Amino acid sequence: MSDNTKQWKYLDNASTTRINVEVFNEMIPYFNEYYFNASSNHKGGGLVKSVIENARCLCANLINATSENIIFTSGSTESINYVLKGYLEENFAVGNHIITCKTEHKAVLETCEYLETKGIEISYLDVKSDGLIDLFDLESAIKPETALIVIMFANNETGVVQDIKGIGEIAQKYNVKFFCDATQAIGKVHIDVNSLGIDMLCMSAHKIGGPKGIGFLYVKNGIKLTPLLHGGSQENNNRAGTYNTPLIVGLGKACEIASNSLLENQIFYKTLFDKVIESVNKIDNTRLIGATENRVYNILNIKIEGLDASIFVEASDDFAVSNGSACTSRIIEGSHVLKAMGLSDKECNECLRISFDTSNSIVEIDDFFKKILNA
Ligand SMILES: *Cc1c(COP(=O)(O)O)cnc(C)c1O
Repeated sequence: MSDNTKQWKYLDNASTTRINVEVFNEMIPYFNEYYFNASSNHKGGGLVKSVIENARCLCANLINATSENIIFTSGSTESINYVLKGYLEENFAVGNHIITCKTEHKAVLETCEYLETKGIEISYLDVKSDGLIDLFDLESAIKPETALIVIMFANNETGVVQDIKGIGEIAQKYNVKFFCDATQAIGKVHIDVNSLGIDMLCMSAHKIGGPKGIGFLYVKNGIKLTPLLHGGSQENNNRAGTYNTPLIVGLGKACEIASNSLLENQIFYKTLFDKVIESVNKIDNTRLIGATENRVYNILNIKIEGLDASIFVEASDDFAVSNGSACTSRIIEGSHVLKAMGLSDKECNECLRISFDTSNSIVEIDDFFKKILNA
């Protein structure tokens, strides 16, 4: 592997983060020392089972839930597949209609497209140019057959945060379940599933300094899902398969750190955000995409007129950033998120996403904008 990434300034934390050293160290003994199967009845099994249950509590605490409502999965993609397929299958009598929105992650949109081939009806809500859905549109889309509302917390391409409490209230009013993909909001926003009216919520550890391939799904009491994976009785029969102790330990630790450092991190990200806005305001024909206030402050999408973002991203050997557009057979297909906000394919390719974690600095932002000015 050619490796010039050591000197990189990494501004692509919305795609994944470096594992936190504390998290990494906490995981190590569970690979080689305490490698036991948590379902074994011997002392070793009991030991790792208690460690796993402790991690489950740490996950629950982060969203003010109780640990019996936390299911470990391989991450948000799996959780999303599980909820959408599992809820509709288990609750077919309730209805066969899902309401979601055009700016959801592909894990939601592709699963919905699959479900459409199975006879499920999907309504895809539009967003306004600021990236927010209109709650009136949501309420109007509800029908007697509506089983599920699927709206993300913070958007992974723009950082825009939906009115989650407002959505939760509408869901409750019509007795429809509300599933929220909170992958980019966890650790950035205070989340209380009870006060927000969230019935199901998912996250991935690797977006908050944890390991890849693990996350949790919160499912409120009384909701049943048909499992994706059948087999052993792990996770209360919700997800079969031997407990992945090291990853679960890492997830728990990452959640604990996210809880403890939330306020401090929020202040830090706002400082970086303000610095970016200051720089953006100094460059002509450059602007922030999406709402300025309803957002997380660690993800920014900026439009720089005349920039070829796909070339910039691929050619850059000192900065890791993202342009969020997929290049198929050399035709640049603009991001579905930005297009839903009203941008043309050409305009989408003038947009760059930068996303921070706590290791980034003001100096890196200065350097980044110097580079932009020379691009
Ligand atoms: C990263 C991400 C996902 C997918 O998470 P995986 O860990 O890749 O399964 C889903 N939704 C959002 C908003 C994300 O940012």
